[in-house]
Amino acid sequence: MRKQIFYGLFAFTATAWLLAAAQFSTPVAADDGAFSAGDHALPAQVATPAPDGNVDESPRIEVVATSAPVVRPTRAVVIGDPTLKVASIGDTLALLSAQSGFSVTDLAQRNRLTQSNMLLVGQQLRMPQPFSPKIALHRVAPGETLLSIAARYGLAPYALQQMNKLPCADCLVAGQLLRIPQTKVEGNLPQPFTQIDIDPPAPIAGEVMSIRVYTSAPLKMLEGQIGKKTLHFFKKAEGLYIAITGIPALQQTEVLNIVLSASTDGDAKTELQGRIQLAPHNYGFQNVFVSYGLLPLLSPKINEAEQARLDQIYGQYTDEQWWDGTFKYPAFGDITSTYGARRNFNGGVLNTYHSGMDFRAFVGTPVQAPAAGKVVAVEQLDVRGLGGFIDHGRGGFSAYCHLSEANVRVGQMVKAGDVIAKSGNTGRTEGPHLHWEVAVGGVQVNPASWLTTVVQ
Ligand SMILES: [Zn+2]
Repeated sequence: MRKQIFYGLFAFTATAWLLAAAQFSTPVAADDGAFSAGDHALPAQVATPAPDGNVDESPRIEVVATSAPVVRPTRAVVIGDPTLKVASIGDTLALLSAQSGFSVTDLAQRNRLTQSNMLLVGQQLRMPQPFSPKIALHRVAPGETLLSIAARYGLAPYALQQMNKLPCADCLVAGQLLRIPQTKVEGNLPQPFTQIDIDPPAPIAGEVMSIRVYTSAPLKMLEGQIGKKTLHFFKKAEGLYIAITGIPALQQTEVLNIVLSASTDGDAKTELQGRIQLAPHNYGFQNVFVSYGLLPLLSPKINEAEQARLDQIYGQYTDEQWWDGTFKYPAFGDITSTYGARRNFNGGVLNTYHSGMDFRAFVGTPVQAPAAGKVVAVEQLDVRGLGGFIDHGRGGFSAYCHLSEANVRVGQMVKAGDVIAKSGNTGRTEGPHLHWEVAVGGVQVNPASWLTTVVQ
């Protein structure tokens, strides 16, 4: 029921954005939003670096020259269209040709590309016909793992997992039959990398993304950067390492550099680069009214100082994952404002966005933890009022703002569903409500996605 309310609201706002060529006004609370001066300036064409440093300043591999615009991925890859192939790191036309049996010329012409060059991660390529690899069967012997079987056939473990619809990488049973594609083609990735998956393949500004690195041997070291942002990898299984991060809502470049560096002996390093194409997303616009008494809280200085404090909290990293599955709703109440909308205040310059999600909630409404974690801060903020912050581990955080009271203390562990606070009307608000934020990798991202999708 609650999800229906949310989807209904989303559908309404999406339609409204489409219909309204001009900005549309909506009576939203005048809260939060990372209001910081010029660095958040719109429109998107302005080449001002985003404040998080996620800027692609020195592209080292040029995009293939095209006579037409590069094929842009849509927001979601078209599932079930077997003639679409989504490029991943290391893919080239030559490799795709070898894997599919279609000629390089055919693939290049069909996709209006030149015949060489690196493709962008997430770029969708049209194949003349669906892939139809020959299939053989392999019976799993005791002691065999997905990785060992993948290595034996020269395949990427994740591809094998997907092809056989295995729910996890380490849940093989001896005697089980696996489908093995017979076309063996070496990938372009240098050892020890065997496969790198970006999920989603074309990430969206304001959303979470994961980077899964498969290797042929255990690593002593794995480091990574996206733009200027450092990735924290954790070992999920033997030969599988995962990092989770967020793309800022106001990300202004359409392509991000990713650099990975791995070592199996702590000495010789293998470095790998790729370019990730971002999918466009329109979060819409909001005009927000702030009453006279709250005008001082629009000051860029106050807002920048508050964002700096949030960056400190969200920039921490705990090498443990406390959340499990999707997040619960933090409060009962209609959603009055979704994440990401570009905002202006009192008809001024459009220079900020809504950094979380708002729930209508009377003062004193119980606020519950959406997932397990550790309380890392409870403090009074100028714009967000009384705020509570939970570390969910692996760089994931959530925040509850404009509270009337907090019922937890710093250092306390909480479970999903625990009442942690009472909602209120403190800070820059024009009425009681709960402002809820989720951050990952130091970036405030769309909380709504965590309610419906398991981030892993
Ligand atoms: Zn809000």
